[in-house]
Amino acid sequence: MSTDVTELFALPVGLYPAYKVDGQVFYSSDKLKQSFLIAISKSSRVRHVSANIEKLVNQNTIIPCFKSKNILSFIKHKFSRNPEKNVVAFYLPDDKKVLVIIDNDISLFGTSANDELALTTLHECMHLVAGRNYVNFLKVFRPYLDKFYKNFFENYFKSNLDKKDISNITIFISKLERYGFRNLNQQLKQYYDLLDKIMSNKTKLSRQDFKIRLTKLIVAIKLLVANVSVLLRNYHSFTMVFTSLNNSYKKSFGKSNTQTVPIQESIALSEVAAIFSEIRPTDPVIKRLFKLVT
Ligand SMILES: [Zn+2]
Repeated sequence: MSTDVTELFALPVGLYPAYKVDGQVFYSSDKLKQSFLIAISKSSRVRHVSANIEKLVNQNTIIPCFKSKNILSFIKHKFSRNPEKNVVAFYLPDDKKVLVIIDNDISLFGTSANDELALTTLHECMHLVAGRNYVNFLKVFRPYLDKFYKNFFENYFKSNLDKKDISNITIFISKLERYGFRNLNQQLKQYYDLLDKIMSNKTKLSRQDFKIRLTKLIVAIKLLVANVSVLLRNYHSFTMVFTSLNNSYKKSFGKSNTQTVPIQESIALSEVAAIFSEIRPTDPVIKRLFKLVT
């Protein structure tokens, strides 16, 4: 047997079930954990927080795992030239953990794959920081949030907003993120009324255009919470919302978000931190955020 083949068949040894969600079991191994941490330390963009990430892996707060225990699927993946993402990660709000699901044999990873793994992990870690220490997350990331939401709401509603306006909006969104949607329609009405109250005297849009835009935003939020596939199927009806959010990333942080359709920002402040971490992973604020949970 050549070394390659030996390695291939040795891969699944030592696998253990690491996490179970929705009836799906995810397996990990000590070797995978090690390879994961090596990949993180090799990514120049994330290296500066690799010690923090290692700590979270050792605490079982970040769980690197394979998608399947099936050997055949490993072989299939090993030879797959499929350009689909090698890594998907989730923040699990109930357990306050991050699951990083790795499709391939990570030892095959090159520089770009290391970065993909590292940045995908980084993104979910920002949700983790917010989930575990919301008050301090808000304190540390506040200036960035203020900038982002000022640019977004000013652009979307053609208005000039002051500090108090932005603060009222971010506090409202922070409550949605922290406490969830207990009464969706009532909370959407509060959101509508808040924006109406703040913007109505400040917008340069006509009353009619303003109401159209406001309604569009609130409907997009309703679909995001209640039925995200309908939102994505009707992507074109909400282009203006997505474009304004994207432009705000560019204006606030210097780069667009190319990874996701931006809309979660309307109900989750941590999404702004998560996208920011992918755009500017070496910014010193990232390390400060990690320190809140390590
Ligand atoms: Zn996210």
